Amino acid sequence: MDEILREGRERERLIKRTFILQRQKVVTEALQKAKMRFIIFGPPGAGKGTYASMLASKLKIKQISTGDLIREEIKQDTDLGKKINGFVKRGELVPDEIVIEILKEEIDKPSSKNGFILDGYPRTVEQANALDKIEEIDAVIRLVVPEWVIVERLSSRRICKNCGAVYNIRYLKPKREGICDVCGGDLYQREDDKPEVIKERLRVYEVQTQPLLSYYSSKVPFIDIECESVDIPPETIVKDILQELQKMDSMK
Ligand code: ADP
Repeated sequence: MDEILREGRERERLIKRTFILQRQKVVTEALQKAKMRFIIFGPPGAGKGTYASMLASKLKIKQISTGDLIREEIKQDTDLGKKINGFVKRGELVPDEIVIEILKEEIDKPSSKNGFILDGYPRTVEQANALDKIEEIDAVIRLVVPEWVIVERLSSRRICKNCGAVYNIRYLKPKREGICDVCGGDLYQREDDKPEVIKERLRVYEVQTQPLLSYYSSKVPFIDIECESVDIPPETIVKDILQELQKMDSMK
């Protein structure tokens, strides 16, 4: 009898799960059809880059990270790369006219024609104004993360000196303490991942971002995603964002 009951429950669970998965697929496919252009804002350590890249691949749109584009120019040692290297090294913003040009070039590429998600742009109201002249924006995704979650997460982050692999001494431990699983290199803590510096980075982020949030608040719908805990899997956050996008899309 127990056996029959158990089987029944298991079947029910499977049917439910299949239903949820099918619904998610329908939602994602519907969203893929619409051209979607987003900006994602989130404090350092919020996981912005990870979510942006997962969303981009799910929605088949392009992730445009100005930080990555800038680092690539510097790595390739192009004329532009030489010009902007100093700003990045000093932790300053690259001048608006240069970043705007880099962005425009990226948006003009055929790979951006289905839409894009901007990660790290705009950083100034001047950049937001320039973007307005290039493309319309459909939504702003804002990651709302309490300070303690960020301090907790970043202060337990460790990086391999040798290959750059990222660990977390609480949530993503290496097999042997202080040693990289990939290459056996020593792990270290970034200077700017220490609690006092993290708090300062968060303060700078708030000061820089506030005018941009005000800029968009009356123009573009906001999707606020609350990340109240340190160990929410990225897939859960991305699922929440997709659901909110779907709601927004069906209200159009
Ligand atoms: P971080 O979180 O360290 O700021 P990013 O990858 O977003 O990382 O950016 C790295 C660097 O690239 C920044 O410190 C800045 O010098 C430059 N940068 C990136 N995006 C912009 C932008 N929109 N405007 C000006 N400078 C930018």
